[in-house]
Amino acid sequence: MGLPELEVRCWTCWGNGVIPVEDHGQMMECPECSGVGWIPTEDGKRLLAFLQRHLAVDADEEEQ
Ligand SMILES: [Zn+2]
Repeated sequence: MGLPELEVRCWTCWGNGVIPVEDHGQMMECPECSGVGWIPTEDGKRLLAFLQRHLAVDADEEEQ
């Protein structure tokens, strides 16, 4: 048993998180993945939502 595929390498920057700006020789944050370099799949999004939900609950409990 294994986890489903949770993320795929960003097809715009190929996992670098940045893409070259034409004519300037500089790099800019990849707009496709927001500089992360990886795109969550549907399964990945569900896991992220799960984590955020439960991490948020834990954080609230710690503050009290
Ligand atoms: Zn990207």
